[in-house]
Amino acid sequence: MAPQVKDDAFGSACNLLAGARRVVAFTGAGVSAESGIPTYRDAEDGLWTQYDPEEFASIDRFLQDPTLFWRFFQDVRYQAITKAEPNPGHRALAALERAGRLRAVITQNIDGLHQAAGSRTVIELHGNTRSIRCLSCGARYSMETVYLQLARELPPPCRACGGMLKPEVVFFGESLPEAALRQATEAADACDLLLAIGSSLVVYPAAILPERALRRGAGLIMVNRTATPLDEQADAVLRQPAGEVLPLLMEAIGVELEPA
Ligand code: NAD
Repeated sequence: MAPQVKDDAFGSACNLLAGARRVVAFTGAGVSAESGIPTYRDAEDGLWTQYDPEEFASIDRFLQDPTLFWRFFQDVRYQAITKAEPNPGHRALAALERAGRLRAVITQNIDGLHQAAGSRTVIELHGNTRSIRCLSCGARYSMETVYLQLARELPPPCRACGGMLKPEVVFFGESLPEAALRQATEAADACDLLLAIGSSLVVYPAAILPERALRRGAGLIMVNRTATPLDEQADAVLRQPAGEVLPLLMEAIGVELEPA
């Protein structure tokens, strides 16, 4: 079927994707925007316009006063994450992997939607909010268990030892999980084409990865609604929403969107 969006960038992206042997996707909050999870930096509906990241996602602030974070989690975050379902953009990436044409999804997202869409090799650079861990004894709880606890106890203590609970996500001021960063770096270094999707590419060290891939000679397809620092160096820049343009790309290169 002929794609509906057909311009030079789309054509170049199809050619690159069709010719590449080692494709890796690098995703950010924008890929989940069409699933109803607000991004952090979009001017109209970005979370940062309502909530200051220093207050709600910095480790220093969290350790000082975890109640502030847990209220935000209770009022805003939990609902957004639990209601969200994978969108056609997530499913297109899962289809590309099923077709044997995508090696890995490196994601900055913490929502688990790539896995829910069927992607198997997902490298989570910033952890996953569905798992909550005790900072004292290491006990793990599901997001649902802790959410129920919040109605009675704020901040919620660890049931096993009374210690402080924290979602297994990387807060500002924390290091990235070593194993994930190593795996992601290897994937970025080995790819011959990087698909950067829905990321402003300003959060470091994650944003180093597309730069590394470029330096090593990989092609770059940018799928992002607004400009990024790497647009100039990209081989194709697609401004359409990821949930619209990714399925069109898959169709254009003959990748079946639904599992057989
Ligand atoms: P970001 O908010 O900095 O940038 C998102 C980018 O996506 C923007 O440039 C925007 O123009 C673009 N965008 C928005 N909707 C789009 C769409 N439908 N299709 C294509 N592009 C679209 O996000 P980031 O670069 O991922 O960095 C923010 C940090 O926030 C990350 O560390 C991430 O962990 C965290 N975060 C995660 C989630 C999530 O898990 N869903 C949500 C918000 C923030």
